[in-house]
Amino acid sequence: MRFDLITIFPEFFAGPLDHGIVHRAKEAGIAEIHVQDLREFTKDRHRTVDDRPFGGGEGMVLKPEPLFEAVESLLGHGVGDAEKRLLSEAGTTIVLMSAAGRLFTQETARRYAKLERLILICGRYEGVDERVAEFLATDEISVGDYVLSGGELPAAIVVDAVTRLLPGALGNEASTQNESFSQPDDLSDQLPLIARNSGYSPLATRHRLLDFPHYTRPAEYRGWKVPDVLISGHHAEVAKWRRQQASEKTRRNRPDL
Ligand code: SAH
Repeated sequence: MRFDLITIFPEFFAGPLDHGIVHRAKEAGIAEIHVQDLREFTKDRHRTVDDRPFGGGEGMVLKPEPLFEAVESLLGHGVGDAEKRLLSEAGTTIVLMSAAGRLFTQETARRYAKLERLILICGRYEGVDERVAEFLATDEISVGDYVLSGGELPAAIVVDAVTRLLPGALGNEASTQNESFSQPDDLSDQLPLIARNSGYSPLATRHRLLDFPHYTRPAEYRGWKVPDVLISGHHAEVAKWRRQQASEKTRRNRPDL
């Protein structure tokens, strides 16, 4: 899968994407990550990427021309509203990072991991000329309900979450199946009786669980013991305990799930 990051701070990505799973996926040719300096698509002497907002107010806004031209240069052809659908069908998605976007979730990551190409546009300052969201980007995505100073960290989050889902990126393929936000295969023993009897389907309502707690050696640390069941060697009991713990933790930390 190919990622293109469009940014005014190309050097930003030198660190965050050069470690662990993402680094290995790059080395193995599973993910290709290109960083595009937005200023290369400016035409004036000062390489201007921003301008004052129409209607007044504080801050600066990223201009549309360099962004449209950067994406068109990456794609090798022009873009506009009418061609958006064709693009998504061709396996390419153009994402504008935006605090005002739709929330990025594990489900979004799974959808993106099926693409051939993801182009990520990093905003700065007060944001990006709205025509980019309207006529250039196919998706407008937020990584959480808080405001950051730029789209680079959010873009790195998306690249990381998507890359680790690419086939072959993790040593152990099974490990993305039982982690937080995955949908457990069988929840029937955890559902309230009333729900079980009503034919209520947890999967249809996107019931999701957080991960269960993990422990490693030492079995006792400063008097705090690892739960006995994990040392018992009873695989069925361990599995049951983990399901219960995942449920409990989800209820406690994320009742919304
Ligand atoms: N005025 C905007 C915030 C601009 S922050 C607002 O109130 O919504 C500058 C840039 O940082 C944005 O253009 C976006 O690219 C990025 N950014 C900030 N917070 C983000 C978030 N939660 N998710 C994704 N991108 C974000």
